[in-house]
Amino acid sequence: MTASAFAGLAPCVHCGFCLQSCPTFLVTGDEADGPRGRIVLLRALEREELPADDAALIHHLDRCLGCRACEPVCPSGVSYAPALEEARRRFADFRPIPATVRLVVAVMAEPAVRTPLLTVARLFRPLATVAARALGSTRIGFLAGMLAATKGRVGGWADRRFGGSADQRIVDAATPVSAPTSKPVTADPPIRRSAVIFRGCIMDGLFGHVHEATARTLEANGYALVPAPGQGCCGALHAHAGLEHTARALARRNVLAFGRARADEIIVNAAGCGAALKEYGRLLAGDLLEPAAHAMAARVRDVSEALTEAGPRPGAAMDLAVAYDPPCHLLHAQRIARQPLALLDAVPGLRRVPVDESELCCGSAGSYSLSQPELSREVLARKVAAIARARPDVLATGNPGCAMQIGAGLLAAGLRIPVVHPVELLDRSYGAAGVYQQVGP
Ligand code: SF4
Ligand code: SF4
Repeated sequence: MTASAFAGLAPCVHCGFCLQSCPTFLVTGDEADGPRGRIVLLRALEREELPADDAALIHHLDRCLGCRACEPVCPSGVSYAPALEEARRRFADFRPIPATVRLVVAVMAEPAVRTPLLTVARLFRPLATVAARALGSTRIGFLAGMLAATKGRVGGWADRRFGGSADQRIVDAATPVSAPTSKPVTADPPIRRSAVIFRGCIMDGLFGHVHEATARTLEANGYALVPAPGQGCCGALHAHAGLEHTARALARRNVLAFGRARADEIIVNAAGCGAALKEYGRLLAGDLLEPAAHAMAARVRDVSEALTEAGPRPGAAMDLAVAYDPPCHLLHAQRIARQPLALLDAVPGLRRVPVDESELCCGSAGSYSLSQPELSREVLARKVAAIARARPDVLATGNPGCAMQIGAGLLAAGLRIPVVHPVELLDRSYGAAGVYQQVGP
């Protein structure tokens, strides 16, 4: 990337319409922690009026969540994200990336390390809920809460606040007639599209149950799934941290792997990964694989897009009040708002409850909760308070980082509201409707 990354800032007329959409500005009230002030800083960097090692410049741009909430509300059509990424790429030469962030991005990039580590993490998951409750909102307690939030919600801890187990309510609301399966049993829909599921890193290691639900619901709606061996981490965490070289290397691996997979679509159930994959053409600008990256990006669809266009076929009724939290990289980066709601609406009886300011970031933002823990928690506190006012039985969101951040925040606040992916609810509803048949022993 070059100075052209700043071109998207040119339309800014400093009107300030974006300020109230910015989570960090709402917390600090500091102009330099809002999009208008950051654009001034980015332009100063571009024009070399400020050096890339300027401490204040780095401070305020590192405090940006990269949530992109400032983009859709801008009447001038400012494109902010490429300039932020370029700035962080330049900062990487001058300021150290926090050790915790370096460790996480290194592990995620390397399957031979990531797979055993996340396997061990899964083993500790049952203890994580206990630890999170015992340690409350301490740093360790919050990390334990993040791990606890990754478990599949098919039964679990009791929820006294809502009169019984909230997890169990998901099960009771639509009790599946069989164990999870892979074959539709009722009136198989004709195969309309072929697809490969993007497995990612954290999703593959800690959210395998969401991948399984994604596969089942896609097959139930006329998709034929094919494998894509060789795929890996999307590189979004690395790009956001300014590690462009690693991000490009990971992108090349995926472009080659998905280029070999003969499928119409690449389905993603993690909003951050989906946004990154859709921008591979920009990330690999000037690379030999740039044309292939554009071709691959054109095939990428969020699972809610795919299922909404395919139907989705309705499932069994579920008596649940669900709050939907739109991930920033789905709502703002991919501009996907309606489809996840349509997916939830395919479950008869499910009631969507509104959450104040649901369009605001939860403070997860990739590795932000590690690199900016204090501000991240302040941003999260606003989100948790809004969810507490809505009092849903369950919260649905389509990004692993959001699920872990919000799940930990709810646990720390003593709120026993399970966090699930929207496809998990549709999957559970399909199970109860007899859409799946049991396979295997
Ligand atoms: S980014 Fe857009 S909304 Fe914000 S100050 Fe500039 S022109 Fe106004
Ligand atoms: S990306 Fe998010 S945190 Fe950063 S300036 Fe825009 S609205 Fe604020």
